[in-house]
Amino acid sequence: MKVLVAVKRTLDPYVKVRVKQDQSGVDLSAAKMAMNPFCEIAVEEAVRLKEKGIATELVAVSIGSDKVQDQLRAAMALGIDRSIHVQASDELESLNVAKLLHAVVQQENPGLILLGKQAIDSDNNQVGQMLAALCGLPQATFASRITVRDGWAEVAREVDSGEQVLAVQLPAVITTDLRLNEPRYAKLPEIMKAKKKPIATFTPAQLGVTPRQHLNVLSVAEPPPRKAGVRVASVAELVDRLKNDAKVLA
Ligand code: AMP
Repeated sequence: MKVLVAVKRTLDPYVKVRVKQDQSGVDLSAAKMAMNPFCEIAVEEAVRLKEKGIATELVAVSIGSDKVQDQLRAAMALGIDRSIHVQASDELESLNVAKLLHAVVQQENPGLILLGKQAIDSDNNQVGQMLAALCGLPQATFASRITVRDGWAEVAREVDSGEQVLAVQLPAVITTDLRLNEPRYAKLPEIMKAKKKPIATFTPAQLGVTPRQHLNVLSVAEPPPRKAGVRVASVAELVDRLKNDAKVLA
């Protein structure tokens, strides 16, 4: 079974975000970038499926500027066999990303498509769902456990009331949640080997897709700074403050 993993280059989750002076977006000019953490989990899951002998070939795909090739190399150092780079703007809307991934799915015919549940930059949580709809494939989102057997994937999802377990017939689209696995670190020999693994590049036009803008960002602002906390001396003082200062207790 071939597994296709969609990998997005995002701001490193451990760096402080700075908004551009003109409030048109986040300032990425000197920011450290990384693989979206949920995509790292998707890559790890694909690698584990290959180690178990369930997957036979792992393909990563990323859409964006030439810099996304860094994240594709990182994915290949973790065990992905080859990559596809779709050359496009780094700021495509979800529907455009989903249409491009749909074209790649048609070209590659994978048995399973793994994505992160959301990209930590836009927090959209849309691409997996849109892709499943465009492909006409079953979807299981927010996977915290995946078991593949006899042409089906059993997927556990954490929901408010506990755990929901779904069975989806393959091929299917599955998006990964935080607790699915703990991604490994790449070893130096694998990083060296990844430099020689192939990356095929395509333009949207070659994939038959014309990206279209459907929304405009009006402004991006930093959240207001949080006020310093107060230390209380006793439970009685805490209750008093909650009642009389915060007015959250009657
Ligand atoms: P989103 O719906 O934007 O929050 O993203 C959900 C998932 O879609 C990500 O974790 C990726 O797996 C995939 N995705 C989003 N944007 C891209 C991109 N530019 N290139 C490849 N995969 C992407």
